Amino acid sequence: VVIVGAGFAGLAAARALAKAAPDVECKVTLIDRHVYSTFQPLLYQVATGGLNPGDVAYPVRGFAVRHGVRYRQGTVVDVDADKRVVTLDDGSAVDFDYLVLAVGAHVNYFGVPGAAEHSAALYTRKEALTLRDEIMGALERAARAGPDGPGAAVVVVGGGPTGVEMAGTLAELRAALPVAFPEVRPTAVRVILAEQGDELLAPFRPELRAYALRELQRRGVEVRFSTTIAEVGEDFVRLHDGSTLPAQLTVWAAGVAVPDAVAAWGLPQGRGGRILVGHDLRVQHHDRVFAAGDLAMDPDHPLPQLAQPAIQTGRHAGRQIARLLTALPTQPFHYRDKGTMATIGRRAAIAQLPLGVRLTGTVAWLAWLTVHIVSLLGSRNRASTLLNLSWRYLYWPGGLIVGDIPEAEGG
Ligand SMILES: Cc1cc2nc3c(=O)[nH]c(=O)nc-3n(C[C@H](O)[C@H](O)[C@H](O)COP(=O)(O)OP(=O)(O)OC[C@H]3O[C@@H](n4cnc5c(N)ncnc54)[C@H](O)[C@@H]3O)c2cc1C
Repeated sequence: VVIVGAGFAGLAAARALAKAAPDVECKVTLIDRHVYSTFQPLLYQVATGGLNPGDVAYPVRGFAVRHGVRYRQGTVVDVDADKRVVTLDDGSAVDFDYLVLAVGAHVNYFGVPGAAEHSAALYTRKEALTLRDEIMGALERAARAGPDGPGAAVVVVGGGPTGVEMAGTLAELRAALPVAFPEVRPTAVRVILAEQGDELLAPFRPELRAYALRELQRRGVEVRFSTTIAEVGEDFVRLHDGSTLPAQLTVWAAGVAVPDAVAAWGLPQGRGGRILVGHDLRVQHHDRVFAAGDLAMDPDHPLPQLAQPAIQTGRHAGRQIARLLTALPTQPFHYRDKGTMATIGRRAAIAQLPLGVRLTGTVAWLAWLTVHIVSLLGSRNRASTLLNLSWRYLYWPGGLIVGDIPEAEGG
């Protein structure tokens, strides 16, 4: 069995197959381009100097050894479902009897001119570090210009959970300015959240959305609705109505699509390029290929691109392969909704849980913190994340983890 992608879905599939042993005999190879599995939900904390990059990255080899699977580092560039082989970027080929595709999703710039060149995305560890350095650079430039200088403006594009988390935390960073950057007036640092629609956090209930908006505004985030971006420049964002916003930094959190490379794999694709699967998560018309996580979509039961759907679909794909290997028929996938959460910042979050339970404020924030820390892979990462987030929130504003300045000589 070959599993491509060591994210939530790929690891869940590998775990399910490891659990089926020794009743089900199979060799599992887990392929990922990175030597670590990234915990994307906390990347914004790395980008804003609250966590170290190692806190959200777990070595795939460690996971592989513990679960009795083989790890192969590489980027899959081609999939031949008929010949049952995947090709890696170094030209090598890996054969399979069953395949699980779980390569996730990446930024979608929707073809907006300048967006790819001049805005920061937040899907990988490297992107989080780049963004952290850009933030440090913007603050250092503002400090050089002094209290009468132009300051800095950050535009966050997209009012989904990532945009809201990012904007809320950036606004909170201003509290650290008098200590960390005394030359910069906190009011000279603007955080603008630009949303194309007229609501933030669309999947949440109206009262939770209203709470999130209030909390962002209370932290000084300028929330702009009905704002469609026409172009992103080096230090500005142009809107469809012709007006411009200053933007020393633009963070693109406006939507996802599956990686472009997937189109060449000859598998059926739906909205956002997601691979179309049947009720048992097998790719349509391909009996030996499963797809799971952000990459996959059952058109009859589309699920949001979130961690729980990825874990549950990955696990189901692994279990179905175990069934097929013991000559049992596959079973349909049923999603168990465990609720959704989003955080705005310190002591402010929203949680929409089963049985109509809705939480806001400190209780929701503590629930959010607990779920995220517990869900991290590895006790070391959990311990360091707990320490770093406690430092950030209890010893605020002194706890900024330092980055690099992109333009500094010597890199
Ligand atoms: C900033 C951010 C914040 C988020 N916050 C939340 C949250 O609070 N709650 C929540 O539920 N969800 C959140 N999500 C969504 C959640 O992280 C995703 O839904 C989830 O990671 C999807 O899991 P996956 O396994 O499908 O893909 P991923 O976790 O993206 O894993 C895909 C893996 O495939 C590898 N890969 C990609 N292409 C190739 C290739 N060609 N060859 C080899 N390997 C490849 C990648 O390196 C990666 O390891 C967030 C996402 C982001 C980006």
